[in-house]
Amino acid sequence: MDFRGWHVYDVGMIEQKTGAENGVKLEDIVSLCKRRGFIFPGSDVYGGLAGTWDYGPYGVALKRNVMNLWWKMFVTERDDMYGVDAAILMNQKVWQASGHVDTFTDPLVECSNCHGRFRADKLEKADTCPNCGQKNTFGEARAFNMMFKTNVGPVDDEASISYLRPETAQGIFTNFKNVVDTIYPDVPFGIGQQGKAFRNEISPRDFVFRSREFEQMEIEYFVHPDAWEVSFDHWVEQCKKWFTALGLPEGSVHELEVAEADRAHYSKRTIDFEFDYPIGREELMGLAYRTDFDLMNIQNASKKSMEYRPKDGGAAYVPHVIEPSFGVERAVMAVLCSAYWHDTENDRVVLRLPYELAPVKVAVCPLARNNPELVAKAREIYAMLKKELGDVLWIDSGNIGKNYRKMDEIGVPYCVTVDFDTLEGDTKDTVTVRSRDTTEQERVTTTDLFTLIHEA
Ligand SMILES: [Zn+2]
Repeated sequence: MDFRGWHVYDVGMIEQKTGAENGVKLEDIVSLCKRRGFIFPGSDVYGGLAGTWDYGPYGVALKRNVMNLWWKMFVTERDDMYGVDAAILMNQKVWQASGHVDTFTDPLVECSNCHGRFRADKLEKADTCPNCGQKNTFGEARAFNMMFKTNVGPVDDEASISYLRPETAQGIFTNFKNVVDTIYPDVPFGIGQQGKAFRNEISPRDFVFRSREFEQMEIEYFVHPDAWEVSFDHWVEQCKKWFTALGLPEGSVHELEVAEADRAHYSKRTIDFEFDYPIGREELMGLAYRTDFDLMNIQNASKKSMEYRPKDGGAAYVPHVIEPSFGVERAVMAVLCSAYWHDTENDRVVLRLPYELAPVKVAVCPLARNNPELVAKAREIYAMLKKELGDVLWIDSGNIGKNYRKMDEIGVPYCVTVDFDTLEGDTKDTVTVRSRDTTEQERVTTTDLFTLIHEA
């Protein structure tokens, strides 16, 4: 038996459909996430806090697996990438120079009848309040800055103003010189960062898709101004590899070449990668050529040179930048929507997560929990698997059928059952292994079990 052969993504035993084709609704995902301990509303016990979400035991494992896979693919495994982890609170000059203080705004309107506040560009009917239904109650839209403002230190004045960062990118740009001066990398090279970002969205919506606190994975890839196109194409290909690694079905991700009129003024080319979410086709991530906009802003505002001096003695220049920008929650949501499968034949819901992303790799279950010998044997197998794989779950309550269903919904690829045949006779030291995707069960020796799962 070959465990790898069981994997749906390797062999395509079951036709994989996109979330939309699957008929999966956003409510299905939200409900499963709450029911199985993936994602809860933030501050749930106090009635919630709009636009915030908390990750439960399986959710945090899934999210970390997504982030670790990204770090491995885009930082560790490459020799032209370096990681940083900058502070969330930054000098206010960062956000003045980047333009966020002046222009990071959404148009806000307020209803004079119910005082509801809405994003003017997201209203279904421009003159009708979606809250109270009154017409013509909106005044002129005003620019609402989406940064969360705070003060650093005990004095509450202009000089102490800081912001919770609205993007991780500036933490990379402000460390460009530090990395160059300490690591001496050759151009092209990139700096990657993962971390929290905050935006005071006027109307957070669609589950974790648009929330006020979220996580980003960003890369700034520094290139010679004449060579940006080669690097841009390279990153298009890398993004596609990433979508495959996440298990997103072919045809569910779409490349949108952003027209000049819709691009930021400094960007010479932008591609939005969109995914077929249950809420429609929406942005999964973006790839932008930002020219030398950011480094020049920093150079002008800080009066420090952002020039790069090639080791071969060539002329110094300010590098240009290709920016692949990934949202963690949007990736997690795309993974969940792709993996969600209502298996009508077996009347079950399954999360067909890629093995590497599954929060639990194997569940171990003794068939009877009141038999000390059986439990001891099962514990022994559990301990060995846990040492090997880490993400292994012990389950000894409930009936076996119910346990399988629960494990299917959590996306556990393999369930190992230890029964009386494990203890004696011809079948001594064999266990039953069940595949999540096919429900197929096989008896294997414990020796084979470790080898096979280890290779999976
Ligand atoms: Zn109103």
